Amino acid sequence: MALSGLDIYKKLPKTNCGDCGVPTCMAFAMKVAQGQAEITACPHVDKKVVSELGAAAAPPIRTVEIGAGEWAFKIGGELVLYRHEKTFINPCGIGAIITDQMSEAEIAAQLEAVKKLSYERIGLMLHANIVAVKSDDPGKLSALAKKVMDNTPAAIMLMSENTDALKAGLEAAKARKPVLYAATKANADKAAELAKASGAPLVVKGNGLEEVAELTKKLGDAGVKDLLIDSGARAIKQAFSDSVHLRRTAIKKVFRPFGYPAVFFPGEMTADPVMEAIYAAVLVAKYGGLVFLSKLRGEVLFPLLVERLNVYTDPQRPMAQSPGIYPINNPGENSPILVTSNFSLTYFIVSGELESGRVPAWLLVVNTEGLSVLTAWAAGKFSADVVAPFVKKSGIEQKVKHHKLIIPGVVASISGELEDELKEWQIIIGPREAAHIIPFLKENWK
Ligand code: SF4
Repeated sequence: MALSGLDIYKKLPKTNCGDCGVPTCMAFAMKVAQGQAEITACPHVDKKVVSELGAAAAPPIRTVEIGAGEWAFKIGGELVLYRHEKTFINPCGIGAIITDQMSEAEIAAQLEAVKKLSYERIGLMLHANIVAVKSDDPGKLSALAKKVMDNTPAAIMLMSENTDALKAGLEAAKARKPVLYAATKANADKAAELAKASGAPLVVKGNGLEEVAELTKKLGDAGVKDLLIDSGARAIKQAFSDSVHLRRTAIKKVFRPFGYPAVFFPGEMTADPVMEAIYAAVLVAKYGGLVFLSKLRGEVLFPLLVERLNVYTDPQRPMAQSPGIYPINNPGENSPILVTSNFSLTYFIVSGELESGRVPAWLLVVNTEGLSVLTAWAAGKFSADVVAPFVKKSGIEQKVKHHKLIIPGVVASISGELEDELKEWQIIIGPREAAHIIPFLKENWK
């Protein structure tokens, strides 16, 4: 079992000096236990303790940084098997593959898709993260890597079992700190040299998990720290089983040779694009670190990105928008005022309707602890005694010349109490659905 915060705290200097960037030793210990900080971030901890705790306090799955620059991201670092135990920390990377077997037009289309297919959802930009380039020819591999560099900000994975090709690709793409794929039984020593010299993460490709364990141990002992695992499975049943086995053994048995993020290629498990999408969805949900699609299509990428967002969101804490006044479409003193909850999805749906309807309006977002309007109402968090003080303190009265407040139709029952609390205000019951806001305003707001 990984060490608890208390186990780690006992070994710290307990001076609460804050030099680690955390105010107290206890808070720092908790961060280390949760895999969010390295023990070495405390400059005062004894060297003996660092070596004693270093390995034991490390997360059971190593956190590996992929890429460099704008689209760099982290994978791994997970501490639990199930997201109801604790939030999954680092979302898996989703990638596309380009190879020297593809035509120039196909390559250009893939790179264009990497750049263009991005989606805004609850205030976040969702997009693919990485492009794998594949060739055993050093010149071709570096040319493909250069194309990715020139046309997208994506991270890069260099794919070849020829270490000369990997070396050439590394040279071309070193500014993006590419992932090297792959170290096998045959080339492990040379691949390790490349990874150590460049600091690039290295994928270990085994023929089954036994071979993977031998290779990760060997490479780890040789000083390569940032490893990833491809178990070699090219059938979904085996890939799923390997993925679960890797995660379970790393977390429950703290088996270090399996404590690295896993890489999957659902496109190599089927020729059917629909099945590939389904397999990718399975591997995003069940522990994939990097999941590569043979072709990036919006109709597959978008649902995968949304799935990933949901899997890696804290299930105990709804995504929330900051409470406050949100001006939409440059409102003025006669613009309508609508009030809603601070559940992110609610906020973005309501503000999106107003924006696309081009209606200037003030949107008051009440702190409902991230709950939607109806759930918040049921929990007593969108009641008259919450909304009224918020309206009074919000400062909206200084921005408008009227006292009319539109409340969501689903909480029409609070209108009477709100009128009692906000004596100068006229409470207007708005539509139940966000989709009806614009027709409602057009008809009722003169
Ligand atoms: S730097 Fe070390 S001693 Fe200082 S607060 Fe952090 S953990 Fe405690």
